[in-house]
Amino acid sequence: MEQNQSQTLAIDHVLVVDDDLILCAIVERHFQKRGVSRIVVANDGRQALEILDSADQPPDFVLCDLNMPNMDGLEFLRHLESRRFGGAIGILSGEDESVVALAESLAQAHKLNVVGKLNKPLNAHKLDTLIAKAREELSAPSQQTSALVSDEDLYQGIIKRQIVAFHQPKVDAQTGQFVGTEALARWAHPEWGVVPPSLFISLAEETGLIEKLTFAVFDHALADLQKWKLGGINACCSINLSPSILTNINLPDEIASRVDAGGLAREQIVLEITEGSLLQKDAVPMEVMARLRVKGFDLSVDDFGTGHSNIETLRSFPFTELKIDRSFVSKMLEDAFAAESVRTSVELSKQLSLRMVAEGVETRKVCDAVKRMGIHHIQGFLFGKPMPGDDLPRWLNEYRVSTGQIPAAPQVSPAPTAAFPAR
Ligand code: C2E
Ligand code: MG
Ligand code: MG
Repeated sequence: MEQNQSQTLAIDHVLVVDDDLILCAIVERHFQKRGVSRIVVANDGRQALEILDSADQPPDFVLCDLNMPNMDGLEFLRHLESRRFGGAIGILSGEDESVVALAESLAQAHKLNVVGKLNKPLNAHKLDTLIAKAREELSAPSQQTSALVSDEDLYQGIIKRQIVAFHQPKVDAQTGQFVGTEALARWAHPEWGVVPPSLFISLAEETGLIEKLTFAVFDHALADLQKWKLGGINACCSINLSPSILTNINLPDEIASRVDAGGLAREQIVLEITEGSLLQKDAVPMEVMARLRVKGFDLSVDDFGTGHSNIETLRSFPFTELKIDRSFVSKMLEDAFAAESVRTSVELSKQLSLRMVAEGVETRKVCDAVKRMGIHHIQGFLFGKPMPGDDLPRWLNEYRVSTGQIPAAPQVSPAPTAAFPAR
């Protein structure tokens, strides 16, 4: 692990993006008083991007207005995503509450780390609250690990078989029956504990380790499916494929031979590909997807709603399933934009006869709402968080008992208690 002292200081480098020069000066002074040593100001998104691209280190915290000349805040946020900006973001705006909420949802859908929004006029207290949230976020152990993981650490993790699959259950929305799981990569590190994928998937993609990592997750998930099968549990399993590995023309054969060798049915495997990657319609990935489908695997478009693809784009890929992004599902009852995104996704899936999956279902109310919309499968913390494969049989038994699908095991009557404690 490399040492990176500035990361542990949490907020030391701030970028303020706003066309209101007076506000910038006030915010700058406020940060100085709070001990931040490096504060950079940009007056629109374009200038902010130039600053970001020429900086030796990215800022820890970006405070960004929405309505600015040249490049507005929404476009700027999209560019932050494409640069994989990992710092904290605060949205600053004089717009309507609904516009600010929309920007926040979009930024979260782009997997940016938005810690909050501030409506103008600003005051010192509101700004301090936001800074405290950003500090808290940046000093979380996960963020520090992210900055410290090197490609050599990850390579060692893969070859030492520390990359494993955790499984999050999926259930049928209409019947409540368990249908299968999504396998999610975890790094079971001997010192750092269980490391989430947000801290190493991008690194694996950037360093070319993603294919090795994907097969590590795949093999682990297949071994779990075999163990469950021996215990009488038949499940489907969804596995995430990074767009970059779809350039391997041999991928369909490699996947098929692994599944066949494990004695599993190809229909049990769903391959998830993020919507964002569909924008480039390159020949090789398209052929790889078509061959995976021809070989009998299901194909799912993951994180739907975040990539702005339309019906024509979707129609040109052989998908069998559409998975609505959790940033929309989890907020669909409070946020009009999220509700509209879910509704549009459902319409689109129906037109294309795709199976619909809602991920990020955390409450009974959201579960009932997606069920009423005709969504087929649901996944979310309401049912279960990702867990090791060995824990799934126990989870399933408890789930079936709690939903009345099977009776509770008869209570073993307690042994008669001795009149006097035995010595
Ligand atoms: P994803 O494929 O969209 O997976 C769903 C993510 O949403 C998982 O996060 C899951 O834990 C989380 N989630 C599901 N339901 C809920 C809920 O009700 N509430 C909340 N708060 N979260 C929920 P996780 O495991 O951290 O994975 C994040 C992302 O990392 C995945 O998003 C996927 O894009 C990527 N990833 C994970 N494993 C792999 C892998 O093996 N290969 C590749 N290429 N990417 C992976
Ligand atoms: Mg997924
Ligand atoms: Mg997803």
